[in-house]
Amino acid sequence: GFCGIGVEINVAYLSLVALDLRGEVTARHRVPLDTRGSDPAAVLDQMAQAINETRAALHARGVTPVAVTVAAPGVIKTGTGVVSYAPNIGWQDVAVAEGLRARLGPGAPPVDLENDAKLGAIAEYLLAASADIHDLIYVTGETGVGGGIISDGRLLQGSAGFAGEIGHMPLDPGGLPCVCGRVGCWETMVGLTALLRRAAPPHDPVHDPTVDLEQRLTELRRRADTGDAATLAALEQIADGLALGVALLADVLNPRAVVLGGYFTHFGDYLIDRVRDEFAARVMAPEAGGCEIMLSSLGFSAAARGGAYLSI
Ligand code: BGC
Ligand code: ZN
Repeated sequence: GFCGIGVEINVAYLSLVALDLRGEVTARHRVPLDTRGSDPAAVLDQMAQAINETRAALHARGVTPVAVTVAAPGVIKTGTGVVSYAPNIGWQDVAVAEGLRARLGPGAPPVDLENDAKLGAIAEYLLAASADIHDLIYVTGETGVGGGIISDGRLLQGSAGFAGEIGHMPLDPGGLPCVCGRVGCWETMVGLTALLRRAAPPHDPVHDPTVDLEQRLTELRRRADTGDAATLAALEQIADGLALGVALLADVLNPRAVVLGGYFTHFGDYLIDRVRDEFAARVMAPEAGGCEIMLSSLGFSAAARGGAYLSI
């Protein structure tokens, strides 16, 4: 049989998913890796290794990958295969597709590149609960916050392919500095770093980048479940910040659904009611189209799945 491969470059790990023609997962691989300020060549080496190991394992089962799509946490100029700028990992003008092709060598499947949140939106639209909602905005909660905007069944790209950079909407002019060099971007209010900062003092182990992100989130989840006041207060602030940005997006784009993904899904039960209430209070016409705020069912795997789906 055949499959498509999606590989996500995350701030804290690389993750790979292979999907067959029915959209079923045929392989998965996750490599914890702190990519912040990383040397792109080293990350590409690791990625090529993960892909080759998966190819070999699939080959042994008679499965052939037909293409690879890489999901990157930054803006990609349409058709270039180059990450123009990925603020959270500090990459600028990195030729990811070409670099990976060179490492995979002859006979390897073709490689494409797209923004992580856009691929998350595609997975959400084509593979998940919000399938058949033709106007939807996918908001990915990661260290950075990204967006994939599907309008009338099409992924919005903008003039250069940079559409959807919702994490850098300057929502708080008096706010905190952002990794992009500006101030008060939405992701400084609702990104994972904001949650961790609000929930725990600087030396708390939940900030330790050498501990796998999943483990740190599980610890935070445990604290919320046991009623830790700082964690619960942090989650309320995240919910308020989310509602503000989502209301803005809804006013501009009139989506039928806004889907919250990534880490937002791990704390969904703590966030969703407050986000919906605050959203209803802020959006100009809450009744217009009945915009629904939903939680993604894909968690942190959305981007890799979207990439794999585009590859098959
Ligand atoms: C980047 C986006 C990315 C998002 C999630 C943001 O900081 O600017 O391109 O989609 O983080 O990784
Ligand atoms: Zn920013």
